[in-house]
Amino acid sequence: MSRSDAPTGRIGAGGVLTIDLDAIAANWKLLAGRLAVGTTCGAVVKADAYGLGLAPVARALHAAGCRTFFVALSDEGLTLRGILPDAEICVFNGVEAAYARDMAAARLTPVLNHLGQIADWSTAAGAEPLAAPLSAMLHVDTGMTRLGLSEAEVKTLAGDPGRLKGIRLTGIMSHLSCADQPGHAMNGDQRSRFDAVRAQLAGLAAGRASLANSSGMFLGADYHYDLVRPGAALYGVAPQPGSPNPMGQVVALKGKIVQTRRIDTPCSVGYGATHRAEHGRLIATVAVGYADGFLRSLSGAASAHVGQTIVRVVGRVSMDLITVDVTDVPEQDVRPGAFVDLIGPRHTIDDAAREAGTIAYEILTAFGPRFARHYTGTGA
Ligand SMILES: *Cc1c(COP(=O)(O)O)cnc(C)c1O
Repeated sequence: MSRSDAPTGRIGAGGVLTIDLDAIAANWKLLAGRLAVGTTCGAVVKADAYGLGLAPVARALHAAGCRTFFVALSDEGLTLRGILPDAEICVFNGVEAAYARDMAAARLTPVLNHLGQIADWSTAAGAEPLAAPLSAMLHVDTGMTRLGLSEAEVKTLAGDPGRLKGIRLTGIMSHLSCADQPGHAMNGDQRSRFDAVRAQLAGLAAGRASLANSSGMFLGADYHYDLVRPGAALYGVAPQPGSPNPMGQVVALKGKIVQTRRIDTPCSVGYGATHRAEHGRLIATVAVGYADGFLRSLSGAASAHVGQTIVRVVGRVSMDLITVDVTDVPEQDVRPGAFVDLIGPRHTIDDAAREAGTIAYEILTAFGPRFARHYTGTGA
């Protein structure tokens, strides 16, 4: 595959999003390499692989050696089953009675979050004409108060394991609420609570234990257990905010210049007239806007590059356009049809997130369908 950064694809697109599948594979191997022998590295590919494309990303991760995948929705699981016929596919949101048979037929593993889901999956197991029981993971809440069995439900289940009739548990998991803050007391509290619940449910032989997401993996080996569930770090997000990012960058975004304007008389730029351009400035209008996921909160805040030169987004981000002060760039580099580097190795998704007042997860998942998408690397 071409490693050139020359934009290809739909000529008429306002932006070109390049996704480096080799970087995703390398990030998975880097994370897997941090684990003790016997600990499995899964991959979270929910929300269309964090907006980067489920099929190419899942194939690249599978080729890198990943065999356990996590999605949020059963629909995502069904789609992924069509892409990876043999992988283990776990569905965080669990099961709904109406879709249980489809999930069983596709050999999906729901993560059962409450007693109702346990009942629904057990019922499906009873109705299945299969000889083998249906697999499932169990989610226990240890302090997030979002998904997972409550303390009371754990007690009920421990006292009545018959509720799991027809179900073969393949794991027990929980989720950390403050893993990106290594000093936060919640981390240790949740780990202790997880150990206590596992002891309480020891009679169920629940299988592999799993606690860590990307950031959780960096809290230390005692957070790894048997199976880890990184998502964001695979896609280049810094797992420890404020520390050097060990992950390789995966995405690059270029925006196409539609028009440039040399300012003769000082004037305002964009909606709300929030930016004043002085005499002599050169403003480039670029065909990327908030409809493409270039968040409006980046108004007057984002930086970008043309060649080696740092440039700034000035004025409001509008639906289809941004305005960039390119005064410091050689004029031949900023003609209509030329590109501005909005996201890249020198201005990462974490940088953009900081400027937008959000997290890199939101930058990634917001990228819209109008961009020409260009995959590089194995499997592109
Ligand atoms: C999304 C998610 C993950 C992955 O989290 P990252 O921070 O992206 O690594 C892991 N576990 C659960 C339960 C999740 O919802």
